[in-house]
Amino acid sequence: MSSVLDWSEPVEPPSTLILTQPSAADIAGPDPTGLGAIARGAARVRVDDKAMINCRADVNQLLPLKYRWAWEKYLSGCNNHWMPTEISMQADIALWKSPNGLSDDERRSIKRNLGFFAASESLVANNIVLAIYRHLTNPECRQYLLRQAFEEAVHTHTFQYIVESLGLDEGELFNMYREVPSITEKAAWAIQYTQHLSDSNFATGTADTDQAFVRDLIAFYVVFEGMWFYTGFAQILSLGRRNKMVGIAEQYQYILRDESIHLNFGIDVINQIKAENPHLWSEAFQEEVRGMLRSAAELEAAYGRDTMPNGFLGLSAALCEQYMHFIANRRCVQIGLEPVFAETENPFPWMSEAMDLKKEKNFFETRVIEYQNGGSLDWN
Ligand code: MN
Ligand code: FE
Repeated sequence: MSSVLDWSEPVEPPSTLILTQPSAADIAGPDPTGLGAIARGAARVRVDDKAMINCRADVNQLLPLKYRWAWEKYLSGCNNHWMPTEISMQADIALWKSPNGLSDDERRSIKRNLGFFAASESLVANNIVLAIYRHLTNPECRQYLLRQAFEEAVHTHTFQYIVESLGLDEGELFNMYREVPSITEKAAWAIQYTQHLSDSNFATGTADTDQAFVRDLIAFYVVFEGMWFYTGFAQILSLGRRNKMVGIAEQYQYILRDESIHLNFGIDVINQIKAENPHLWSEAFQEEVRGMLRSAAELEAAYGRDTMPNGFLGLSAALCEQYMHFIANRRCVQIGLEPVFAETENPFPWMSEAMDLKKEKNFFETRVIEYQNGGSLDWN
């Protein structure tokens, strides 16, 4: 948006204040929560005081901005606002209830897809609020996390709305992450990286704990939201392209647009932490992260075989596995790693079209409303 003011200029306090007052950090010590004792009369926060992790500057002061990319993503998220209930489910309800509207393979895939996302959106939200937020000691990044947390609530709301609209068994859907092994494996893989971070005794500040934090960021932003969600989107959008479950497909388009910003925010966060703490990004750690992406792709391939044992409508487990290899390699490059798989083509080139909502009409032409006006994003 061109109307955004430039807030990035550091505001210098009167120089006497700098010379005579101790900094907030000197008085209060590092306070990542922002809820510690107020450092009365401490020097004002300068841009150079700010840092991504282990920062001693006051986290209650958004300005002066240091990380403009974080603020831009917050604005983009706000510009993309949507609610699931604005999308009509009439066509989906008719198709779902008609006995011959969908094949058994399609129904199985749709249900498992919904079941995977239904609990995953909450997992991602809980990770943001209870693990990431506390350790990301920068107010403009936290501003984005607050926006993202709300978007995850909107996404969870979407699955509530779908369950209610189609009359699905809510217990079956929301328990899939505990009852369907190929979904459980993915959730369990991610949870191992967040469990100890949500422990109130966990603190960053050593190479080991800082790396643990970066691992959590990679597990949730790069793998969960950046890899696994994308095969899920491909499944539903493939149906939508063939005029099936068009309401759900439209909702997935909006979720995909949100997730694409979540992913890009996560990548920027990881790369910024790397730049500020180069010792964390050792050869050994890079190899470990590549191994994480490789095993995550394998779990997704297993999920693909489970949800699409026979394939349908141009989709198959093999194509989804190829897509996952393509995506995993791309994610590697985005965080500065060597690709983990042999070079492969994108088997779903139409996915980039599905991500482009800047059109006269929506991709599935179910309605004409446009939310997007933050049009300068780079969709990955
Ligand atoms: Mn989400
Ligand atoms: Fe997300």
